[in-house]
Amino acid sequence: MSSEKDIVESKVKIVKAPDGHEGSGFFATSLDQVVGLARKNSLWPLPFATSCCGIEFMATMASHYDLGRFGSERLSFSPRQADLLMVMGTISKKLAPVVKQVYLQMAEPRWVIAMGACASSGGIFDTYSVLQGIDRIIPVDVYIPGCPPRPEQVIDGILQVQELVGKESLRRRNTPEYTELLASYGIE
Ligand code: SF4
Repeated sequence: MSSEKDIVESKVKIVKAPDGHEGSGFFATSLDQVVGLARKNSLWPLPFATSCCGIEFMATMASHYDLGRFGSERLSFSPRQADLLMVMGTISKKLAPVVKQVYLQMAEPRWVIAMGACASSGGIFDTYSVLQGIDRIIPVDVYIPGCPPRPEQVIDGILQVQELVGKESLRRRNTPEYTELLASYGIE
């Protein structure tokens, strides 16, 4: 019969080690991979929630779905201590400069999720006053479809970002391509 300790241990999943070389008593890999591993498993989201999608995010954070299992339980309401901007809800054109300012106040490296139809494309609000997707003002890494997306989809979106983060080169933010991407949004 399994002891309680065995059951607990069987539920603990150890994060997969990055590619590298290992032998008796040593493991060698590249700095990029080690930093990527640490970053991807400790993303600090800044929830920029304006409407109903924010409620689904609350469910994602709560005990049943528990985003903390993925290392993202520490939400940040200060842009300077966050590296994942999650925009959820309808963003009016009047609010767009605020979203952009929050993005600008985040330190590099930073990633962005557009959660739900409104943040991704304006959703059902095809009107003069609503921004038709936050990628009109800031670069977006992952879009989560749905109106609203289920918590499972939010978790899937976070996992997609983790995939990007884990593989990102430490030099990417200094490349001409990245500078060009930001310049296309008027960001220097
Ligand atoms: S996508 Fe749907 S659920 Fe999300 S904020 Fe827009 S209207 Fe609400």
